[in-house]
Amino acid sequence: MTSDGVGLWGRTAPPAPDTAPLDREGEASVAVIGAGYTGLSAALHLARAGVDVVVLEAGAIGGGASGRNVGLVNAGLWLPPQELIARAGPRHGAALLDCLGRAPAEVWRIIAEEEIACEASPIGTLHCAPDRKGLTALQARAAQWQAHGVALELLAAPETRARLGSDRFLGALCDPRAGTLQPLAYARGLARAALARGARIHTDSAVRQLAPLSSGGWELVCPQARLRAGQVILASDCAPGAPRIEMASEQVILPYFNLATDPLPDALRAHVLPSQQGAWDTRKLLTSWRLDAAGRFIIGSVGQLGAADGAIHRAWARRQMRRLYPALAGQRFTEGWWGRIGMTRDALPRFHQPAPGLWAVSGYNGRGIAPGTVFGRLLAELCLGQISVEAMPLPLSPPRPVLLRALRGLALRSGAAALHLISGHARQ
Ligand SMILES: Cc1cc2nc3c(=O)[nH]c(=O)nc-3n(C[C@H](O)[C@H](O)[C@H](O)COP(=O)(O)OP(=O)(O)OC[C@H]3O[C@@H](n4cnc5c(N)ncnc54)[C@H](O)[C@@H]3O)c2cc1C
Repeated sequence: MTSDGVGLWGRTAPPAPDTAPLDREGEASVAVIGAGYTGLSAALHLARAGVDVVVLEAGAIGGGASGRNVGLVNAGLWLPPQELIARAGPRHGAALLDCLGRAPAEVWRIIAEEEIACEASPIGTLHCAPDRKGLTALQARAAQWQAHGVALELLAAPETRARLGSDRFLGALCDPRAGTLQPLAYARGLARAALARGARIHTDSAVRQLAPLSSGGWELVCPQARLRAGQVILASDCAPGAPRIEMASEQVILPYFNLATDPLPDALRAHVLPSQQGAWDTRKLLTSWRLDAAGRFIIGSVGQLGAADGAIHRAWARRQMRRLYPALAGQRFTEGWWGRIGMTRDALPRFHQPAPGLWAVSGYNGRGIAPGTVFGRLLAELCLGQISVEAMPLPLSPPRPVLLRALRGLALRSGAAALHLISGHARQ
């Protein structure tokens, strides 16, 4: 079992396309830093437009959050529509809601257009209420989307039970726009599509320095070579080693882990998530769960599978799996992995232009598959001059580092471990 890396997704994704480090001086119209969804979507859209684009990735394609996540392709952000608009302001809030509401459709369309094999399952997701408070929150969320012309399905307890195969919930909100995919396979598929259209991707090519050129444009310094580019898209999000640390430093790191069983026997598959829809609950310390295409049960929550807390989270996940599905009591976890979710102060993503020709969007707060895809395209359109800064659904803002960032991250990590240590024992 791996406690780091991309875990199960690395085992079941199609192989990564062949790439190599940047090892000679080069030039590009646009350089993209980071091969996650944001960078790869930007590269794909630039390459589709015939632009000479080079992606520089510190590690492997999808080696950051994009290859480690749960694979829930959701519409909007974690914030319910009203709160999103209240925080982002009426103009940007309405634009952001509209843009991210349509974002899953864009993911499904790209997957179809580029024939990406990534276990795409656009059959909706289930946001599940284990208690009255959760149910009220889901009712409010459904009403708020309805006010924006989007009909979600609010399921009563019997229908929720039928779809989940679990009787632990009072109701659920089904979002038909959403679905699941194999996250690393999607990232590798985007990379393959970008390469096929002429983009160049260099892996193991960490950008150590980013300097403006007196002649205009930028110089990107990698360990073995340099690249000159007219414009640069910073798509390194909160990953460690991001070249402009001020952008990563406005996000507090929330670790999130996943544990997966081997494929479930057919007799169990009929009763565990019979609807095949990915699910998560309304609790603050949430549980997510889903099946992959082979029928592995994947359960996740906040926490890091490190030496100190890994055993606590694994024990909690076994208890929680049994609570949701007593029939899974005998199942063992054979894969485990975790990643970093970047959380901004107000749970909204950020759009920056730190200098002319340098663009960045980051901070999806755990909702990055569809938003990363869409913002990658929008960053490409900005570089192409097809849209203006004013057309972006986010305001341009200066990076504002979070005070005591490391300490806050540590508090989230330890808080999750403490809660998982005590949670579930009484309810066995
Ligand atoms: C465990 C987990 C579960 C999640 N679950 C979901 C989910 O179910 N649904 C959902 O929508 N979202 C989910 N998310 C969030 C989502 O995965 C992210 O928001 C999204 O992947 C961010 O994409 P990105 O391209 O902006 O960044 P990343 O995927 O993190 O990519 C950034 C890349 O930049 C590279 N990099 C960093 N520094 C440098 C440098 N100096 N030079 C070159 N390259 C550099 C990194 O190596 C990395 O590959 C989850 C995240 C995690 C961690």
